Order: sequence, then C-alpha cells, then structure tokens
Amino acid sequence: MADIIVVGAGPAGMTAAIYARRAAKTVLVLEALSYGGQIINTPEIENYPAAAHISGFDFASGVYRQAKDLGAEFKFEKVISVEETGEDTGEEKLVRTAKNAYTAKAVILATGSQNRKLGVDREDKFVGRGISYCATCDGAFYRKKCVAVVGGGNTALEDALYLADVADKVYLIHRRDSFRGEEASAARLRERDNVEFVLDSTVLELHGEKKLTAVTVTDRQGNTRTLELDGLFVAVGRIPENSSFEPLMELDDAGYAASGEDCCTRTAGIFVAGDNRRKDVRQLVTATADGAVAATAAVRYINAES
Ligand code: NAP
Repeated sequence: MADIIVVGAGPAGMTAAIYARRAAKTVLVLEALSYGGQIINTPEIENYPAAAHISGFDFASGVYRQAKDLGAEFKFEKVISVEETGEDTGEEKLVRTAKNAYTAKAVILATGSQNRKLGVDREDKFVGRGISYCATCDGAFYRKKCVAVVGGGNTALEDALYLADVADKVYLIHRRDSFRGEEASAARLRERDNVEFVLDSTVLELHGEKKLTAVTVTDRQGNTRTLELDGLFVAVGRIPENSSFEPLMELDDAGYAASGEDCCTRTAGIFVAGDNRRKDVRQLVTATADGAVAATAAVRYINAES
C-alpha cells in the first residue's frame, strides 16, 4: 500500500508527488498516457515565475525528473475508479486501473481536463484530416498553408501565434469581439500581417470530402462567409476529467470538483488538484500550487489518522 496515490501526472499531480515525497510519504503516480499533461503542448511558457522562455515539454520533463529523483513511483495505467474500502473515515482507498488495483491511505485526483469539441456536424470525421486540437503537435503539417484557429482563450491565442510562424495565413475565429486570453498575446497577433481576426463569428459548417477544405462561419447578424483552408485548430476550452469520481466529490454544473482552499473534497482522504478543480484562475502556476496544497493536506490527514 502506498501512503498517497496521485492520479494524473500533469504539473499539479507531479508537484503533489514532490511535496509528498519531501514529507517522507510513499507515492505512486498513476497516469493514463504520458507525463506532462496539457502543458506539454505549450511551445513557450512566459508567465511562470523565474522560468520565462521554457517550453512546456522541458518544464514537464524537469518536474517529472524531480519527482522521480525524490523517489515517486510512476505507472502508466488509466484509473477507472476510486473507492473507499469501508464506511469509517481513515479507511483505505482502492484505486482500480484496467489491469490492477492499488490501495493507499490518501488519494489526490489531479486528472486535469480534455479538449472540448466544437460540436459541428462531421467534426469527428475530419479529425486528423484537417481538424486538430493541438497546434504544436500538428502545426508543422500546415507549413505554408492556410489554417484557422477557433477560440478566444489563451490556448487559441497562443496557437494562432505559433501557427502564424508556420502557415501562410491564419484566421482566428472567435464568437465574441473581445478575448478571454491575455491582451499581450492578442496584441502580438494584431501585429502579424498573415493573421486575420474573424470575430463575433462561429463555425456553422465544415466542407470537404476526404479532407477538410473550407469552413462556413456565421456572424451575429446571420451573415455567412466561407473560408477556404487546409486546417482547423479547435481551441474552445477543456472539459474536466471528473466523471469517474463523481460519488466522492461534489461537481458543479460544468463538472469541476468543489473543494476548499485546502484542496479537500467531501470525502475524507480524497483531495483534488489542478484544472479539474473549481477555481477562478487556471494557470500553470495555480496547478503547481494546488499540487503543493493538496499534498500538504494529504500528509496532514495521514499523520492525523496514524
Ligand atoms: P478557455 O480559457 O476556457 O477559453 C475557451 C475559449 O473558447 C473562449 O474564448 C470561449 O469563448 C470559446 N468557446 C467555448 N466554447 C465554444 C464553442 N462551442 N464555440 C466557439 N467558441 C467557444 O480555454 P483555454 O484557452 O483552453 O484555456 C484553458 C485554461 O488554461 C485557461 O485558464 C487559460 O488561461 C489556461 N492557459 C494558460 C496558458 C498560459 O498561461 N500560457 C496557456 C494556455 C491555456 P468565450 O470567451 O466567449 O467564452
């Protein structure tokens, strides 16, 4: 049995592992895919204190090495459920993956979020055939081509900036006329000759046979415009990955886990950290901060129970 099982190896989960190991607790980190989480898709992080101009991949690799060097164990298995083994507080937690079952005294759920889809007809058909949810993964396929990014958050703005260096032309399609993302990124986009803002507009229709060839957008007045393009990068936000843990945590309407400032959930010994938690500011710095807070709370919980 581990003292603490951390579910998810993004910045929040790996930081929790670091803090728990430094408190001399045994830690098992379970991750479905590979370590790093969403941040590995960010080409350059500019807003993490003292780490300006580091790539998301390098950042994640550094945190991973730090956690491993401190003795955290990582296993790459998807967690399908977390259960309490008894009715009293202080009972063990049972964490099941498709292959195995593990027990721990406390569990930190740092599962992050997944891409939200646009919800337009034939979107799934064109994934990998012109539609992508990751500019840094797939942008290189669109060198000297014409692409569009949908969204107005930091991801969309950063994706558009990244693609403006790769593609000949970038449309930025956003449903409002102001951006949710940082003004600094929007200002840099305005300076680019090959970026065109298509504001107050949403994607109505996707065109093409085997590959995406164009999209039709509509504005608030109902005027439509068809943009010929080679690629559409969808960056319209994320959906928290909490559905498997619903009995343990209270979820809000958008599916984010309710927790206190101490990252505690309504279930003793179950903590939540990072983008799957309800909070105002979802940034790398708040994800790592959550990891530290959740691990500290988990350590206190274990010490109080023993
Ligand atoms: P986000 O901030 O939630 O933005 C999603 C954007 O998509 C919003 O502009 C939203 O429009 C739009 N949208 C949502 N549903 C839509 C739909 N069905 N059709 C069209 N547009 C739709 O998501 P994000 O950009 O992925 O960022 C997630 C979090 O990570 C944020 O907290 C962000 O600040 C953070 N992040 C930080 C960094 C960084 O610090 N470097 C980088 C990337 C992301 P409205 O604005 O009209 O709601």
